Amino acid sequence: MSTHDPNWGFETVCQHTAEDYRFEGAVVPPIFQTSLFTYETGEAFENRLSDEMTWDYTRVSNPTTDIAEKKIAALEGGEKCRLFGSGMAAISAAVMSACKAGSHIVCTNAAYGPTKYLMQHMLPRFGVTTTYVDGRDTDEIRDALRDETTVIYIESPGSFFFDIQDIPAIVQMARERGIVTIADNSNCSPYYQRPLSLGVDLVVHSATKYLGGHSDIVCGAAIGSRERMKPLIEMEGLLLGGILDPFAAWLMIRSLRTLALRMERHAESARAIAEHLVRHDAVSKVYYPGLPTHPHQDRIRAQMRGASGLITFRPAFQEKQSVYRFCESLRLFQIGVSWGGHESLAIPVSVPEKAGKWYVRMSIGLESVQDLIADLDAAFASV
Ligand SMILES: *Cc1c(COP(=O)(O)O)cnc(C)c1O
Repeated sequence: MSTHDPNWGFETVCQHTAEDYRFEGAVVPPIFQTSLFTYETGEAFENRLSDEMTWDYTRVSNPTTDIAEKKIAALEGGEKCRLFGSGMAAISAAVMSACKAGSHIVCTNAAYGPTKYLMQHMLPRFGVTTTYVDGRDTDEIRDALRDETTVIYIESPGSFFFDIQDIPAIVQMARERGIVTIADNSNCSPYYQRPLSLGVDLVVHSATKYLGGHSDIVCGAAIGSRERMKPLIEMEGLLLGGILDPFAAWLMIRSLRTLALRMERHAESARAIAEHLVRHDAVSKVYYPGLPTHPHQDRIRAQMRGASGLITFRPAFQEKQSVYRFCESLRLFQIGVSWGGHESLAIPVSVPEKAGKWYVRMSIGLESVQDLIADLDAAFASV
């Protein structure tokens, strides 16, 4: 029943994939806010699972969620997407689908904190162990592989210092050994990077970030081939049961309409701000994959189409109180976790791995870039 043309461009997928105006001609599909679907006959009930197009129970599938899943699968270039109630639900399902007792994981240091916490503190209870590596160094990843390694988990670029991993090289060494590769693609979104096209097996998202884009839903996604997604959906998906609510799925469909437009604006503003910060006396270092000074230009060119709206900088002033004062002086940037939404955010962070130095990590929102630059300059002046 769904419509999709593999030749459609990114923006057309966002508007048309999985939609055919079948609901009374409505251009926006309804929210099927229902936990179950009923049948008129005993026969239909008995055969309910043999026909793919009958709906049964919302933990299994739901027509509203299905539209969002089909769009995200097409955007990532995968056959199948499963949406979850959070990024962590998607990540734990994906990782657990590729492990059993005795398995070993190799994970980049730059991965999202709770992802590492899962591997470090929860999976060992089931006999799964993890080695952390500097993901920038492909040799270090190779050296960490063991006979029991079943997963290489990467996040490129990371979300604080934007380390870039050499995805094609990692994929090659994984394939030679039958290891599953999982990539967290939340930072770039499919608009700027499509890891499946580089050979990665499973892509996961905190769809709370750019895919959602409005800071009003918490959502996760796992995308891959039909073959890999089927057991993931039937086991971790249905049995751990971390599904997305139909209303949140409907908001996700709304969000995807403007994903390309939002990403371009986030990127354009972030680039202007990064260039402004590079020239600023009060800034000693700027981290942004969209700057020509990023150390991994070759990898960026080979695997990314652009950089998103996340920037980190090291202020020249290094007293904690000054860094706090800077963040508190901003009027448009708010202090808060998460990122990828319409609103700009800035957080002060001190990093033990970087000798306890202070940094400011910013998510550049959709405000006028002149206003954001003026806001930053005023905050620098106040310190
Ligand atoms: C936020 C985040 C997650 C976790 O997603 P939730 O939706 O908060 O569960 C995973 N990976 C990255 C890179 C994130 O920033």
